[in-house]
Amino acid sequence: MAHRVTLIPGDGIGPEVSEATTRVIDASGVAIEWDVHQAGLNALESQGDVLPEATVESIRRNTVGLKGPMTTPIGSGFRSVNVGLRQALGLYANLRPGNTMAGVQSTFDDIDLVVVRENLEGMYSGIEFDTGTPECAEVISTINRLNPKKVDERAAISIKVITPEGSRRIVRYAFEYARANGRKKVTAVHKANIMKFTDGLFLREAQAVAADYPDIEFNDRIVDNMCMQLVQKPELYDVLVMPNLYGDIVSDLVAGMVGGLGVAPSGNIGSDAAVFEPIHGSAPSHAGKNEANPTAMILSGALMLRHMGEQPAAERIERAVAAVIREGDRVTYDLRADRDPSKAATTTEMTEAIVARL
Ligand code: NAD
Repeated sequence: MAHRVTLIPGDGIGPEVSEATTRVIDASGVAIEWDVHQAGLNALESQGDVLPEATVESIRRNTVGLKGPMTTPIGSGFRSVNVGLRQALGLYANLRPGNTMAGVQSTFDDIDLVVVRENLEGMYSGIEFDTGTPECAEVISTINRLNPKKVDERAAISIKVITPEGSRRIVRYAFEYARANGRKKVTAVHKANIMKFTDGLFLREAQAVAADYPDIEFNDRIVDNMCMQLVQKPELYDVLVMPNLYGDIVSDLVAGMVGGLGVAPSGNIGSDAAVFEPIHGSAPSHAGKNEANPTAMILSGALMLRHMGEQPAAERIERAVAAVIREGDRVTYDLRADRDPSKAATTTEMTEAIVARL
């Protein structure tokens, strides 16, 4: 039976890299019925909302979505599509694999890391109080009453929220991912030496969950040391799990180590739904020119297939993408050492080369 997947093509280069991805997935032999919906600028123009309820409802119904990049509308008052989707669907885990591929220019080789970032709490709880507001004054006065250390009355305040349930859930996801994907080790990343209560709680919960997975090695690292070690001895690490802000930063560090935006896929996963997307944006200057690199979106599609239990097709796609990039003669401009657009393949030509290698 065909899987039903919500497809949100996005805007800018989104529709082109989305089309490339559905072509490759359809050619991989997995039967998918694409339920196409809009979000972002297109949805704002046609339906007056960047994240229409029909789009969220479709993902809820199908339980899996594949999303192209979208331009953030200029001006205040628009809710973020990504944050809206994460919250509406409870997508608590952000999955960011980072693999070096022969043919992609990067300072490192042999990188094979997976960053699992908590997506809904931590420093991005969304609870903030602006300097000078009556609400902020009330929060500061409460803190000053309860805590021996005094907060300046002109301070702005952001609240970091770490819960036992949120910590257990994200660490358990990292271990389950490790087990399902033949990974050997999970490292919890934190700053529990300074933030003894919030990160201390995260670390204790991580240690408790790790005890349920004796087949997988577990250790922990303080986030600043983690960044240095990733650059100095990345081969010591495998799956990394961490609260929201650290995950945001460390996952971009890993993306930079493997050659940047054009090749970096991601997934946002919850208990009842998951949405996969490239980490790059809508690259408006390349839109409509058939020259955008489809790799990150195709690899996001492969990550989605793994999540759906279609491992063999996912592996075929990943191998085909790697082969085309390694050969290097049918790749988009950004993957060429000379970046010469006159010698580069179009998005369509690169897609066809990948399909031919499946
Ligand atoms: P961007 O990722 O769109 O572009 C950054 C640079 O990388 C540009 O030089 C661009 O041309 C290049 N690039 C990115 N993807 C490429 C690809 N697939 N092939 C070839 N070149 C590629 O980031 P930006 O310019 O900061 O943002 C543009 C718009 O995208 C903004 O409105 C931003 O808010 C939005 N954005 C959306 C998402 C998302 O939907 N998940 C993520 C990031 C940015």
